[in-house]
Amino acid sequence: MWAASGAGRWGAYSRAVTPTLALSHGGPVPQLGLGTWPMDDDEAARVIPLAVECGWRLVDTAAKYGNERGVGRGIRACGLPRAELFVTTKLDGGYQGDGKAVQGLDSCLDRLGLDYVDLLLIHWPQPWRDRYVDTWRTFERLLEDGRTRAIGVSNFKPAHLDRLVSETGTVPAVNQIQLSPYTPRRESRVANQRHGVVTQSWSPLGRGSDLLREPAVAAIADELGTTPGQVVLRWHVQQGLAAVPKSSDRTRLRQNLDVFGFELSPTQLARLDTLDRGESAAVDSDTSGH
Ligand code: NDP
Repeated sequence: MWAASGAGRWGAYSRAVTPTLALSHGGPVPQLGLGTWPMDDDEAARVIPLAVECGWRLVDTAAKYGNERGVGRGIRACGLPRAELFVTTKLDGGYQGDGKAVQGLDSCLDRLGLDYVDLLLIHWPQPWRDRYVDTWRTFERLLEDGRTRAIGVSNFKPAHLDRLVSETGTVPAVNQIQLSPYTPRRESRVANQRHGVVTQSWSPLGRGSDLLREPAVAAIADELGTTPGQVVLRWHVQQGLAAVPKSSDRTRLRQNLDVFGFELSPTQLARLDTLDRGESAAVDSDTSGH
């Protein structure tokens, strides 16, 4: 799963703090990236240069977040060459079917002020529309055009993924799903791995839930001399997951990347496993349109 830091067409992340994972389309993806929801334009434009200074090299946005203009401003202000950053955006339900993703990506690129993104995701499968396979075929064209360097999905259950791969033959580079010790999504991870898809966790810190206050997390943080957030992010990276934690705070931006110099023991991992609240605790991709 681990890949050598890459260069060339997919950018040069070798100087970045974050290790990278190999994507099925070939390029490396930084294992940790910056989530930008619910930042608005101004906050994104302020936080991205700060994050880049702290070592972050992946920025995760979406058409739906309404902050792509600010993300673009932040990218231009950060001082790094474009090739050293990995930018992900996502197209939601309004862009599914009938080649609508072409116009969707053009609008994203226009708002971002970029010529290409590194990863384009179908935001939710929305199976009741029955359009995600058509949309994926449009994504394949966008990949060939070079306007995105990789294509992937988000919130796809194993059955959605199986159908996509069997009907199109193109394996998504990434499946970005809600995933944390509360919702470890074992079945989805196995399915992703079977297809060679990188699993990328959203809400990896549990988004303001009790996760970081759990006695098990706090105790492990005490044992290791880290913060609870670092324990949880280490749980992700140690299992070969990618993750996009959001922070707008300088101290937490630094701490959240500083998770590559310590290890969770098998016992500590097992204690975190007890926090599993089951699949029903995850947002349901069959009904959610967000
Ligand atoms: P996270 O689990 O990343 O939690 C973010 C919250 O945790 C923020 O309130 C942040 O506050 C706080 N925080 C960050 N670091 C720490 C720390 N070390 N200790 C304590 N608190 C901390 O949840 P999100 O829901 O924001 O998910 C992350 C990203 O995933 C989003 O920003 C978005 O990019 C993506 N996403 C994708 C979805 C999809 O459907 N594909 C759906 C939802 C999100 P502060 O900023 O003050 O540090």
